[in-house]
Amino acid sequence: MPELPEVEAVRLQLAKFVVGSRIGEIEILTPKYEVGMDKKKVVGARVVNVRRFGKILSIDLSNGFSIIIHLKLTGQLIYRGPNLKNPPPLSSRVAEGLPGKYTHIIFKLDRGGALYFNDLRQFGWMKIVQSSELKFQSDFLTKLGYEPPVVLDSPLPVLTLEEFGKILAGTKRAIKIVLMDQTKIAGVGNIYANDALWLAEINPLRPANRLTSKEVELLFKSIIKVLKNGIKMGGSSENTFVVPDGSEGKYQNFTLVYGREGLPCKRCGEKIRKISLGGRGTYFCPNCQK
Ligand SMILES: [Zn+2]
Repeated sequence: MPELPEVEAVRLQLAKFVVGSRIGEIEILTPKYEVGMDKKKVVGARVVNVRRFGKILSIDLSNGFSIIIHLKLTGQLIYRGPNLKNPPPLSSRVAEGLPGKYTHIIFKLDRGGALYFNDLRQFGWMKIVQSSELKFQSDFLTKLGYEPPVVLDSPLPVLTLEEFGKILAGTKRAIKIVLMDQTKIAGVGNIYANDALWLAEINPLRPANRLTSKEVELLFKSIIKVLKNGIKMGGSSENTFVVPDGSEGKYQNFTLVYGREGLPCKRCGEKIRKISLGGRGTYFCPNCQK
């Protein structure tokens, strides 16, 4: 599932490619995606902004409406047109070109541009809402917690070190479970929770309220560091993840501990161990994560 860095990497490219474009026509190729998509509300409007609320993207239009999108597990948004002069080769994670085997919606933009929404599993969704309804913890957005301070213009409230400390002090659940609880902290999923805990040298099973204030601070900084690094690398391409130019993210090649079972720890050389915690693969170094 795309996490904060993946969705932010999509947002950054999308903003570059579609802001300023006018929506000419919307082709819905898969009937289930007709639901919530009243085309009349958006055809002819110009894209003025692209925002991200946690994992939900919002394409804001000049007429007061927004198209909100959740990519879920396998959604893709890919742009082709005049704002991307030399597109990189399309990743093999995009099946059969554009439009391809799993293209469900095509936004035809002015000057020959097009935005394709693909989704292999069809868990992703899209709907048109009034921009004014998009507010923190409004009905359209799932209850999201504070967002770590990794982007400057996030519409979600920013997680401060103080708030982070309060969240951890209030629960004896395993620290990794708490990091991934989206109602407490928005955007940290499995990959980056694993890597942040490794960076801070904290065992994922530790009760959250037993961390020292030094560890809390180090973990807070580690979360910011791994998320920023993830955004810089265009996210991590697991499943079908690609960014809007059609290329893959690169973070999966540089994970600190995630996915490295049996490989040597990048800090001490000990073999990385994998356990299941809350149903998710959890990787850690038994030597340096105490
Ligand atoms: Zn180690």
